[in-house]
Amino acid sequence: MVVVKKIKKVREILTRVRNEKKSIGFVPTMGYFHQGHLRLMELARKENDYVVVSIFVNPLQFGPKEDFKEYPRDLKRDIKMAEEVGVDLIFAPSEKEMYEEDFSTYIEVTGNLTQVMCGKSRPGHFKGVTTVVGKLFNIVQPDRAYFGKKDYQQLIIVKKMVKDLNFPLKIVAVNTVREKDKLAMSSRNTYLNEKSRKKALVLYQSLKLAEKEIKKGVKDPKIIKEKMKNLIEEKGEIDYISIADPQTLQEVEKIEKKVLVALAVKIDGVRLIDNRIIGRN
Ligand code: AMP
Repeated sequence: MVVVKKIKKVREILTRVRNEKKSIGFVPTMGYFHQGHLRLMELARKENDYVVVSIFVNPLQFGPKEDFKEYPRDLKRDIKMAEEVGVDLIFAPSEKEMYEEDFSTYIEVTGNLTQVMCGKSRPGHFKGVTTVVGKLFNIVQPDRAYFGKKDYQQLIIVKKMVKDLNFPLKIVAVNTVREKDKLAMSSRNTYLNEKSRKKALVLYQSLKLAEKEIKKGVKDPKIIKEKMKNLIEEKGEIDYISIADPQTLQEVEKIEKKVLVALAVKIDGVRLIDNRIIGRN
């Protein structure tokens, strides 16, 4: 495995790889790996001849009051973990390498997809995501890129960007990897102390509650949201609870087919997200 910091060098190596007619699988990340990241890499390993992973905590996707500075970083540990699952190349650029001083071009998916859910409480976040992912796609030029369903809205928005801008690659969606007690894995879970970690289970519990209600035949999203709210309220501060169409991400008035139930909750100051696609039977 090689670790590369410069765009020019990545291009040199990957031009050779492509000339050998090898397929390239790509996993963009912000590092501080957990089993969720590794699942994406393992799948990329299975489906491609050559696997590239990027590690870059992208300043563009953090708001001014968000945790860019505190975001956990440990490149050494990440390198070791990636090597163990057979990654071929790690691209770990500096901020300067990705954004030169005069950087001034952005990719923004406009309209409804980016206005709802996390887009509402994190203005500019998805513009930062699509800009960096677009740049990374141009640098790596993969055949397939792997994204987790844990960040469901991000997955849908990246898919839209790929479709609208004709990026010649396939987006592969990967199921959410959870801890034994069902907390969705996230680099941000390291912020939780023992007590907060227990409270955090309420996200998944509320999704299971929604599932139970939907399977029982409850069709009014308001009733389900209210029940979820009651369950969550004493453990955390709700940012949003959404029951939406899984493709358009717009709230549904009545639950008649599969819905996306998604939520963001602050547990002792740590903002966590989770979601589940729920069908009626
Ligand atoms: P991040 O480093 O948090 O930006 O995540 C990099 C990629 O890993 C994104 O596509 C995430 O959706 C995905 N990912 C993060 N956590 C999980 C998880 N628990 N299960 C599956 N994929 C995940």
